[in-house]
Amino acid sequence: MNVLVTGGAGFIGLNFVHYLLEHTSYQITVIDSLTYASHPQEIQALTSNPRLRFVKGSISNKSDLEATMDRKYEAIVHFAAESHVDNSIQNADDFVQTNIVGTYQLLQQLKTGVAKRMIHISTDEVYGTLTPVQQPFTELSPLSPNNPYSATKASSDLLVRAYYETFKLPLMITRCSNNYGPFQNKEKFIPTIVLKALQDQQIPIYGDGQQIRDWLYVQDHCKAISLILESGTPGEVYNIGGGNEKKNIDVVKRILEIMGKSDKLIEFVEDRKGHDRRYAIDSSKLQSELGWKQSSTFDQSLLNTVQWHINNFGASI
Ligand code: NAD
Repeated sequence: MNVLVTGGAGFIGLNFVHYLLEHTSYQITVIDSLTYASHPQEIQALTSNPRLRFVKGSISNKSDLEATMDRKYEAIVHFAAESHVDNSIQNADDFVQTNIVGTYQLLQQLKTGVAKRMIHISTDEVYGTLTPVQQPFTELSPLSPNNPYSATKASSDLLVRAYYETFKLPLMITRCSNNYGPFQNKEKFIPTIVLKALQDQQIPIYGDGQQIRDWLYVQDHCKAISLILESGTPGEVYNIGGGNEKKNIDVVKRILEIMGKSDKLIEFVEDRKGHDRRYAIDSSKLQSELGWKQSSTFDQSLLNTVQWHINNFGASI
């Protein structure tokens, strides 16, 4: 069985490639343009496994994409994206190119019948923000993105939905909450805290630090995607949440505690534009229909993640 993974050299994609190599016998093709957020050495190293083929190319470039279409795929799992909100506020060009145009190019390829199904990996950010008392987002919540990144993801979700309705392509969408775990880029929240704390530098926290995120361990996310790959229904959206709603400030304090560092490193800085206050996601559909449940706890997985980042940064600082 052949599987194409777009963005397989990035944080979640790379964890998913490891997951497939470990838990399945699939032949895997990865296409990734190797942006700053990728792990080129890690993906190259994995090509020593004959089950993994790596193609360096952009999904928004038709001929790059066609280079991977020399075989029929049981499934495509589409992770490739520009994913950092702060960058999208500075300049959203690459976000429009990859997240919207790239997804469009992929959908065009699917029209040729190259794959039996595709999972489009999206985000809870497409739903916008919640007040402290609102119920978590369900798959039926309206799309209400508040920043350029989430707007491009919502746009790609709508393209996927339209290609399902118009061309009856076998497409599914997943919307996950904030992931954490190995291989996350150092620009993101948890790695940033670990890196700054290791160097005894001030840790910048946006606004009052009371923003709430729902943390999902990347291994649990991979397991959910794998279940959807096997038994998901085309045309459906599946929310994947960690059920771990935490205030940003509390996550920072817990990491400092794990690392034996002082809270005095925390520095409140001007809030980010369009900063969503709270995300929380209802995964009951995935649990009841496909039997997904998490196998990790936030405390243990956070500990493992902090340790992973310390080891990873150790060599570079
Ligand atoms: P990431 O930024 O770590 O990795 C993205 C990967 O895509 C990189 O390897 C990059 O080189 C590749 N890429 C970028 N543009 C490309 C292009 N034009 N062609 C081919 N490859 C390209 O992102 P991530 O955190 O692993 O996120 C993966 C997916 O999950 C994204 O679609 C993101 O929107 C979604 N998501 C992530 C989170 C999270 O917490 N990380 C939460 C919700 C949803």
